[in-house]
Amino acid sequence: MIASVSLPATSQKVFDVHLHGDKEPTKQMETLAASGVYKLAISTSWSLQENYITNSEITVLKGLMLPCPEGKVPYSGQYCFEDREDFPDITWVEKMIKEGKIQFIGEVLSQYYGISASDEKLFPYYALAEKYNIPIGIHTGLAGPEHGSPNFKVSLGKPLLLEEMLQKFPNLKVWIMHAGAPFLEETIAIMKYYPNVYTDISAINNPYIFPKEDFSRIIKTFIDAGFEDRLMFGSDNSDITMAIENVENLAFLTAAQKEKIFYKNAELFFLQKH
Ligand SMILES: [Zn+2]
Repeated sequence: MIASVSLPATSQKVFDVHLHGDKEPTKQMETLAASGVYKLAISTSWSLQENYITNSEITVLKGLMLPCPEGKVPYSGQYCFEDREDFPDITWVEKMIKEGKIQFIGEVLSQYYGISASDEKLFPYYALAEKYNIPIGIHTGLAGPEHGSPNFKVSLGKPLLLEEMLQKFPNLKVWIMHAGAPFLEETIAIMKYYPNVYTDISAINNPYIFPKEDFSRIIKTFIDAGFEDRLMFGSDNSDITMAIENVENLAFLTAAQKEKIFYKNAELFFLQKH
């Protein structure tokens, strides 16, 4: 007889689509893997991002954070790029995409930067994402304290601001980060009309930001609106065990719906067709 193997805290497969850098990348990756995360999408300063490498447990998808307020990553304050510019050089970006060093564009920090998600300064990057069929993730909603971005505006976090870019780049795969909360009506309206728009549930699944009852109500609203195939799990560096448990505890979700949210929807969304 074989001795029984102890199972990890959760046996759930998780694709975490919303992660940022940590002071200890190796430890962060180990913690995530122990909770069932097998794939993640990370965006942070370009130099820190280089420390995140696919290993036997976790596949790493790398983003491109932009535009950076005063050249810096909000909250942590490192420079996004070596040249300390707010926007990365477009020729360099295309080269990085071609070399497979960028799998998505995001977190788009337009709200922190003080511009709309449909500002034309962003169009060259959106055009590249459309050309190479890579997704765009846009920060929406609110922000935590002390992000250090002087031009941040609440009104620039509204999901309806995506409409112009969605019309200009109709083939883009776009995800609304943080579900647009608290502007949920706008998220729902955009997702109803534009089937290529997904959302991640980071921030709303963090009980320190949104009470559990609010999270439950929001997910129920999305499910009732018919979006069970377009919700993606994200932790945004919150406690991963807690973030997973919050989804597990939603009694109205079927096991199949939970699987979609934990990884199946994200797998389809990030699938690269050539
Ligand atoms: Zn964000």
